[in-house]
Amino acid sequence: MPTRFQNIVNGRPTPARASGDRAVLNPSTGETIVEVADSSPADVADAVAAADAAFPGWSRLTPAGRHKVLTRLADALEDNAADVVDLEVANAGKPVSAFRDEEFPDCVDGIRLSAAAGRSLTANASGEYLDGVTSSFRREPIGVVGAITPWNYPLLQAIAKIVPALAVGNTMVIKPSELTPLSTVRFVEIANEILPPGVLNVVMGDGPGAGAALTADPRVGVVSFTGSVAGGRAVAVAAAQGLRKSVMELGGNAPAVVFADADIPRAARLLAASALFNTGQECMASSRILVEESAHDELVAGLKAELENVRLGDARDEATTLGPMISQKQLDRALGLLDRRSGTAEVLTGGKRPESDGFFLEPTLITGLRQDDELVQTEVFAPVVTVQPFRGEEQALAMANGTPYGLSASVWSSDTGRTARFARDLRAGMVWVNEHLLFGPDCAVNGFGESGFGIENGLMGATEFTRLKHVLTSHH
Ligand code: NAD
Repeated sequence: MPTRFQNIVNGRPTPARASGDRAVLNPSTGETIVEVADSSPADVADAVAAADAAFPGWSRLTPAGRHKVLTRLADALEDNAADVVDLEVANAGKPVSAFRDEEFPDCVDGIRLSAAAGRSLTANASGEYLDGVTSSFRREPIGVVGAITPWNYPLLQAIAKIVPALAVGNTMVIKPSELTPLSTVRFVEIANEILPPGVLNVVMGDGPGAGAALTADPRVGVVSFTGSVAGGRAVAVAAAQGLRKSVMELGGNAPAVVFADADIPRAARLLAASALFNTGQECMASSRILVEESAHDELVAGLKAELENVRLGDARDEATTLGPMISQKQLDRALGLLDRRSGTAEVLTGGKRPESDGFFLEPTLITGLRQDDELVQTEVFAPVVTVQPFRGEEQALAMANGTPYGLSASVWSSDTGRTARFARDLRAGMVWVNEHLLFGPDCAVNGFGESGFGIENGLMGATEFTRLKHVLTSHH
């Protein structure tokens, strides 16, 4: 494993001038993997200057020219799979089998999908909308993209921003989470063996430091942020201050609404898996389950059996199915939410930290909660599943829509009229019917409510990195 990670600016590893070392940890053991330097505002400014200088050359390549370069990133990532998988498993605590076999292939496929985004942009047809004038519509890149990513999918999120933004002609400075910078730095290093210098730069550091400096830089044309509601709010305000566009992919608190006429054993199996995926540190996890009263006990029994069947352990162990949480802070936050649960709540399994130096939490199932309980209203972001009973569609919908979030939801029923009504009425940017968390690079995400705004992923996501220009040419 490499022992030194640095910012990459203008194509070169660049030591930060900045503000002290930061230990990057392995959450399975609590041990330090490597120390990296936090970037100062001056380091960030240098990276933005490099991206700004690279923009004219990169943006004037043809879409096919950029496509050709960017698809090579997919091959290069595959060539470096072993190294990148090791880094992500160690640093993000992702069970190796799940990361290597599911998430990593999506990273590679995401590059292949988005590399072509610049070749398929759409706008109104050109034509004579006014007498004597031909209108044509151009979708142009915006300039330098400031990308800020979270720790729960470090590489996947980085690729979901980097490749579409570059494919449509922008350049970028990316700031990964201070907890998980390693796979992003490695990917940018690999990419810089292929891309012209300055097109893609990475700076490390925390939110209030490097993140805020990136967001505030007037040369940044659009800020693409994925993270918490609180972080997103701060970044959106800073971008708005400069009257710059921002795209916000924020937290979620997905309801899964299960009716008694659904296949309950299948629902229990799939909902347990999607609640625990990535140790529940997943913005669309099915962690808030609502079930029709008559099916409550059967579903709860099925979920309990599934939760008690996981293999908790070091992410590097092939047999592990549930890894650690990312940090002591996130673990303490989840334990605090569990400690403060209301008197009516009943913990049916889990709820404790096992003996280990890593940041582990046993998979936890809780019933008896009220709609206004903190554990229901908050994004718990841990391997914790809550189950609440409901009576009838009206109550189910009110409970499902009764939090400030609106990222995703699912409805489970064999009545197609009912599932159609819920698909229409659930206040969420993504709705599954008799499924939860089926996801891939083609799937556009669009948060409602406090889950944010703007689209990420798929070819629609690339459009967020463009702006429309209307050209009117006189016939005289
Ligand atoms: P976070 O908001 O703490 O941090 C996210 C990133 O923002 C980090 O790089 C951080 O350094 C930076 N940051 C924080 N404050 C900042 C500020 N004031 N200015 C600039 N940058 C700042 O979030 P997190 O804890 O790293 O990530 C988990 C969150 O991400 C969860 O809420 C999860 O739901 C959300 N998430 C959402 C999606 C989605 O597609 N909607 C996907 C993955 C994760």
